[in-house]
Amino acid sequence: MQLIIDNISKTYDNGVQALQGISLEITKGMFGLLGPNGAGKSTLMRTIATLQNADSGHISFNDLDIYKDKNAIRKVLGYLPQQFGVYPKMSSEILLNHLAVLKGITNKKERKEVVHVLLDRTNLYEVRKQNLGVFSGGMKQRFGIAQALLNNPKLLIVDEPTAGLDPKERNRFYNLLSEIAENTIVILSTHIVDDIKELCHQMAIINRGEVILKGKPLELIEQV
Ligand code: ADP
Ligand code: ADP
Repeated sequence: MQLIIDNISKTYDNGVQALQGISLEITKGMFGLLGPNGAGKSTLMRTIATLQNADSGHISFNDLDIYKDKNAIRKVLGYLPQQFGVYPKMSSEILLNHLAVLKGITNKKERKEVVHVLLDRTNLYEVRKQNLGVFSGGMKQRFGIAQALLNNPKLLIVDEPTAGLDPKERNRFYNLLSEIAENTIVILSTHIVDDIKELCHQMAIINRGEVILKGKPLELIEQV
């Protein structure tokens, strides 16, 4: 399992050069993308998630070119955006069920099973009837992971997922991600060094749209 990002650049219409020749090779496990606000993390993640096109460069996943074959890649991709909105007046069970329909899980019995398993896995089964509007930040983010896992992705992209969570919820969230990363590529963006140090087997530091360092967290973090 391998994601290859080859020389990706992106300039927005307003002239901001958000990505300037990013190249990375990412394998199974948790990969950390560290960088300050405005570094280009979200742009890169949206680009990998095929929600936005780069101006130049290539991205491939297991030899699949993600722009030539967007549908194939979307089948194996899960994405938790930085600003993940939920319908406050819906329960997690009902919303997840709707999202499962959109993902093409048309068999009702199968869908019920998938929803049940995901709510259980993200520790939300007990509160499945509660409206999302009363969820804490950590619960919402775990729900965000549940929806991202609907299609059983091989590649999970999570953009600054723990902003605003307290330390306990953050740990809980990261334990969940670590479990997922045992058989998935997980790309985690954050501006918190410690998160990456503890969790990721590989990392890159980006700034102003460029990779300035990449390697193993424990080796790199000594240098910064
Ligand atoms: P981040 O914390 O990742 O930098 P922002 O708060 O900057 O996120 O961006 C939130 C949303 O606003 C994103 O969808 C991003 O694409 C968009 N955005 C950010 N900067 C600009 C900008 N200068 N012009 C237009 N849209 C922007
Ligand atoms: P990060 O996620 O690291 O905070 P972003 O990818 O959100 O960085 O932003 C990188 C740069 O691109 C910033 O200068 C931001 O303002 C700009 N930007 C992001 N989205 C847009 C957009 N939709 N339109 C214009 N500029 C944007």
